[in-house]
Amino acid sequence: MSIRQLPDTLVNQIAAGEVIERPASVVKELVENALDAGARRVDIDLEEGGVRLVRVRDDGLGIPPDELPLAVSRHATSKIASLDDLEVVATLGFRGEALPSIASVSRFVLSSRRVGAEHGASLQVDGGRVGQVAPRAHPQGTTVEVRDLFYNVPARRKFLRAERTELGHIEEWLRSLALARPEVELRVSHNGKPSRRYRGGGEERLDFDDGAARLVETLGEAFAQAALRVEHATSPRPAEDGREAAPALRLHGWIAQPTYSRASADQQYLYVNGRAVRDRSVAHAVKQAYADVLFHGRQPAYVLFLELDPARVDVNVHPAKHEVRFRDARMVHDFVYRALHDALSATRAGNAPLVAA
Ligand code: ADP
Ligand code: MG
Repeated sequence: MSIRQLPDTLVNQIAAGEVIERPASVVKELVENALDAGARRVDIDLEEGGVRLVRVRDDGLGIPPDELPLAVSRHATSKIASLDDLEVVATLGFRGEALPSIASVSRFVLSSRRVGAEHGASLQVDGGRVGQVAPRAHPQGTTVEVRDLFYNVPARRKFLRAERTELGHIEEWLRSLALARPEVELRVSHNGKPSRRYRGGGEERLDFDDGAARLVETLGEAFAQAALRVEHATSPRPAEDGREAAPALRLHGWIAQPTYSRASADQQYLYVNGRAVRDRSVAHAVKQAYADVLFHGRQPAYVLFLELDPARVDVNVHPAKHEVRFRDARMVHDFVYRALHDALSATRAGNAPLVAA
């Protein structure tokens, strides 16, 4: 065979293999886009575990009609414009891959009305074949409808599991997103019935309880009652102009007291600059901090937010962005260990849990 350029649709389908594994990946990408667009409320409608339908509607900024085709084309993004931007990226997305990937393996409709615009519009894509932009009534914000995931990729379809299993994966992702963004309202329906609701309430609620109510909604009363507040930061270095700079590292969130341990690692949530990730060095630091207080074989439960200068962490390690790479992993490790060790010793000294019943 001679060398030839692959058609766009095929390129997108190949990329979809990396980013879109199952309906839960679709939900993750679409809800992250909604959050990046500043949504305060996101509605997620599912049918048959998301295989038949995933519909995500938000009240964010919206997309102007003439940009709809760009939104579904590869490597098109409004979130970065240069390598320097990538160094400091604050949005969840930046690769411009999710929508074209999803649209290449489903029956896809993107509808939107830009903030301040009088009219909405929509664009249909069928297995990667992009239609024409058409006017469509739509409230401010965006709706993405994804039907019949992998209908044109039988090899992928085969790997989809039972409805309940796929729904379980979706709910796990949503729990993880809900923990990170307690100010945003998330409503889920499955097969036409409301199935879950995370109440928003805007920044006021966040100021009021700092996410503790969301902790109860996501992980339950038992965790919340056993939770210890973690708030730890490196001392800020004074900037050259004399003002205080932000601390180099900050860790906040909740860890469960050793009396509340788990048989599996099912309640371990780590966020780096707001993004849910898995990281071995942080996991190791947590394990070490709990080493003396947890029975062998038991797993700690935690929700931890690590914040650091975006330039000190590379988020572009994996297409689905499940992993990050720290410039100084050793420093992060020791910092996390110290923070948790201190929090756990404080309980042994008799401090009560900070999230009361
Ligand atoms: P990325 O999120 O990496 O930029 P996507 O393929 O997920 O790539 O989305 C492409 C672009 O489409 C985004 O950069 C954004 O400009 C626009 N977009 C996607 N979803 C939404 C949404 N819900 N609201 C507003 N704009 C959106
Ligand atoms: Mg995206």
